[in-house]
Amino acid sequence: MMEYQGKVVYKGIAVGPALVLKNRDVQVKRIRTENSGVELGRLKDAVSCAKEQLQRLYDKALKEVGESNAAIFEVHQMMLDDDDYQESIQSMIEKEQVNAEYAVAVTGDNFSQMFASMEDDYMRARAADIKDISERLLRNLSGQENSDIENMKPSVVVAQDLTPSETVQLDKSKILGIVTVHGSTNSHTSILARMMNIPALIGVPLEFEQIRSGMETVVDGICGKVYFDPEQKIKDYANAKICEEQEKRRLLEDLKGKESVTTGGQKINIYANIGSVSDVGYVLQNDAEGIGLFRSEFLYLGRDNFPTEEEQYQAYRRVVQTMGDKKVIIRTLDIGADKKADYFNLRKEENPAMGYRAIRICLKQPDIFKIQLRALLRAAYYGKLSIMYPMIISTEEVKQIYKIIKKVQEELERDGIPYRVPEQGIMIETPAAVMISDELAELVDFFSIGTNDLTQYTLAIDRQNERLDDFYNPHHKAILRMIKIVVDNAHKAGKWVGICGELGADETLTEKFLKIGVDELSVSPSMVLKLRNIIRKI
Ligand code: PEP
Ligand code: MG
Repeated sequence: MMEYQGKVVYKGIAVGPALVLKNRDVQVKRIRTENSGVELGRLKDAVSCAKEQLQRLYDKALKEVGESNAAIFEVHQMMLDDDDYQESIQSMIEKEQVNAEYAVAVTGDNFSQMFASMEDDYMRARAADIKDISERLLRNLSGQENSDIENMKPSVVVAQDLTPSETVQLDKSKILGIVTVHGSTNSHTSILARMMNIPALIGVPLEFEQIRSGMETVVDGICGKVYFDPEQKIKDYANAKICEEQEKRRLLEDLKGKESVTTGGQKINIYANIGSVSDVGYVLQNDAEGIGLFRSEFLYLGRDNFPTEEEQYQAYRRVVQTMGDKKVIIRTLDIGADKKADYFNLRKEENPAMGYRAIRICLKQPDIFKIQLRALLRAAYYGKLSIMYPMIISTEEVKQIYKIIKKVQEELERDGIPYRVPEQGIMIETPAAVMISDELAELVDFFSIGTNDLTQYTLAIDRQNERLDDFYNPHHKAILRMIKIVVDNAHKAGKWVGICGELGADETLTEKFLKIGVDELSVSPSMVLKLRNIIRKI
């Protein structure tokens, strides 16, 4: 049995086989080889295996998401066959007498840089595809097919690290637990784990040489331990805990359909945070009173091109219609920092958390923003949708947004497309927004406090930096005072305030939030009934 200690991101117990995802950042080594023929043979096998994988992916996508979305796998097949690309790899193997991995990695880098520097937007976006097919070849050459993920059985995912875009590609219904070496408690991958109710540990010093896919694994997300090849007594303990958890959840079931109201009659809305259309199921299962944060940027991650207006409209409309008369607050694109998609072609930055991200991208590249706003205004026609803008620091930004909304409205009017301009609010997640919340409150319909970023910017602590986890203190007096300032300023202007950062789910603060006068808490779906239980006892 092997036992490791880590940090708990989401409490709970998981039992199942491990699925080990190898480190994607392994440096490819240049190895001189006398026998180029062997390397060319390995390359040929890797290419034909890649073609089969891409064909399988195409067939699967065609069934699940339709022809236009499946087309990307056809494009990848064609690129893989491209003569220039193939010749470049082969000639490197022959002339420089190097291993196939090295030739693929160097050719992939060169070609993707060449595409990235092209004028044409379409061609520039192909840089990401070249990277993708080169990585596929590298995986095949090292014998670790990505089919692990593509055809995964219910498993505990074990990895060095997971990015948000990788996490969204995993089949959530099959992830029993997540165990990673890196990652911070407030990263979006951790937030996704909480959202999906998946027991998760980070900061686990795993020795990958010893852990294989298929090994029996127990994740103890209460003590922060993971066991591989566990002893019988550990398995018995885990199974008993799973039953206990199920019993606790069953007791909470009685709270469904009841109000989140204190014994003194103070009502607070308990909404849920989601990242994809399919998460609405968790929202309904847990009887949330609305959706307080739909992180729309997840629609943009884990894919090779921008989602179209139609795709977004369909997604938003589905969520709004499924929620019926309950409110759905959709946050506009908050891409950047840890949430990256290659096709945005964002430059590498020294300080991405303080960089070109979120509303800044939308205001600088209004063409991208307008597509999303058109989709949102169209979907708003069908239900109780509200729009929320992230990372606001000034009243000028809000006014600029309203100008763009006006244009979008005129265009929809001109095109004769049904739409509605809904309630619009902003996230308060920068100290600047807190300090001018009196002025901002005059401009918007509501505030939602994003304590994850507000803590990062107030305490000058990068939420991605795992070494700073011990310093990241959202209970800091500064944060709690800021929340009070924002609530008071909003209420003076007759506007409502919610908290949609992770702090909203902190059971030790629920009573305090009620005292401050917070009107809504938006939390991961699994926390909704727990908070209702606490509130009804206050
Ligand atoms: C926040 O910053 O608190 C928030 C809710 O947004 P995100 O975690 O997606 O940055
Ligand atoms: Mg944020």
